[in-house]
Amino acid sequence: MPEFRLYNSLSRSIEPFVPGDGTTVKLYTCGPTVYNPAHLGNFRTFLFEDLLRRVLRMRGWAVEQVMNLTDVDDKIIKRASERSISITDLTDPVVETFHADREYLRIQRAEHYPRATAFIPEMIELVKRLEANGIAYKADDGTVYFAIDKFPTYGRLSRLDTREIRAGARVAQDEYAKENAQDFALWKAAKPEDEACGAAWDSPWGRGRPGWHLECSAMAMAILGETLDIHAGGVDLVFPHHEDEIAQSEAATGKPFARFWCHGEFLLTDGAKMAKRVGNVSTVEDLRTNGVSAAALRHFVFSTHYRKQLNLSGGALEASMEAVRRVGDFSDRLSRERAGNAGLAEAADTLIVEATTALSDDLNAPRALGALFDFIHAANKALDAKGTDAGALNRARDAFRQVNAVLDLVPDRGTDDSELATWVEEQLAARAAARAKRDFGEADRVRKVLEDKGIAIEDSPSGTRWKKVH
Ligand code: AMP
Ligand code: ZN
Repeated sequence: MPEFRLYNSLSRSIEPFVPGDGTTVKLYTCGPTVYNPAHLGNFRTFLFEDLLRRVLRMRGWAVEQVMNLTDVDDKIIKRASERSISITDLTDPVVETFHADREYLRIQRAEHYPRATAFIPEMIELVKRLEANGIAYKADDGTVYFAIDKFPTYGRLSRLDTREIRAGARVAQDEYAKENAQDFALWKAAKPEDEACGAAWDSPWGRGRPGWHLECSAMAMAILGETLDIHAGGVDLVFPHHEDEIAQSEAATGKPFARFWCHGEFLLTDGAKMAKRVGNVSTVEDLRTNGVSAAALRHFVFSTHYRKQLNLSGGALEASMEAVRRVGDFSDRLSRERAGNAGLAEAADTLIVEATTALSDDLNAPRALGALFDFIHAANKALDAKGTDAGALNRARDAFRQVNAVLDLVPDRGTDDSELATWVEEQLAARAAARAKRDFGEADRVRKVLEDKGIAIEDSPSGTRWKKVH
């Protein structure tokens, strides 16, 4: 296989990538802010990260992925206050919807989904370290800020040197304008509305709550350690979110926070960024209603390179539905046929070389898709010629399976037993991990997902057994 190369926003160039320890990729992906169901723009980013994760595994590495769930921030508090409910009452159902949508799109489950509110002590510790290093200060508004002039490399990721840096000027909001680089809030003094919706905790600086950027730094380092292999998210997170994550983490540890920073481009509708505040969002619910399968959306998203903008349109989705129908028909044919010929074996070898080369070249999924459709064309022709070589057929099946393991484009028509077993084992491992962390809500959720697929589970001293009940 050719070496694996990835665009690194930090160096603005494509660089060879291998995990720091040679075996396991420590991957942190900024997750959804759970005040509203995620929209397809968010899911474009999560699909780019799913592609990244699957390509890393194709390369033979293990992946330990964290996707945080931001369950306390300005927007969540505002929404909870409007409804006079607690932030937990607001976010719990949204987290459930997120996982259901994620599963619909066949986005592989990350190893960890930490909720920000479960890591408040780690966040406080981080602010204490920054304070001890003389970089955090409490202002007269009771909020603790990060002093950007004490961190000389502030702005390296987003090239702030071309813009105005206003050290000493302060900004308390989680999201703020790109034009200004100001001291940002680490720990915000509690307001009455924070207290009213359960968004305030005790701290050495009085009652308060974490800033959004602090959440990610604390959870990433608590779970994955002080230096990550890859930190990913959408391009809108470069400034201020990721810039501030770097500042907080590196000013505390003195070590690089992430070796690679990877950013996916926007999904647009009618030329504008899909965003809740613009009001042009579509959701997974809309896909379900319109009969757009996971396979079709995945095809649509992977047809454009992740660093290019992508416009959502009905026509494009229809073309993708048609394309995955061809993939499904071909997949059926491969399982029906009994033998192939030399042409089929050759097409299989070409597919493997071209698809792995494309995917290893900064995740070039559009080129891998091109190779897949060329393969389908050539393989259909070879199969029409009727061969007698069972080995050739197996090579074709194998090549198709390997590429589909990354793109996952075969329309869902019920999984066969070995796929089902793999899937159930994955779910059981996730449930065991949740139970080990005493996250019984998550464990119950996984049990429910299994039950919905007709899988009954039974815990016993020797482990968990499962069976198909319908
Ligand atoms: P949020 O829930 O707003 O924190 O966003 C979750 C993820 O979705 C982040 O990585 C964002 O960068 C990403 N994102 C938000 N809007 C879009 C969009 N229109 N296209 C692609 N990614 C997006
Ligand atoms: Zn983040």
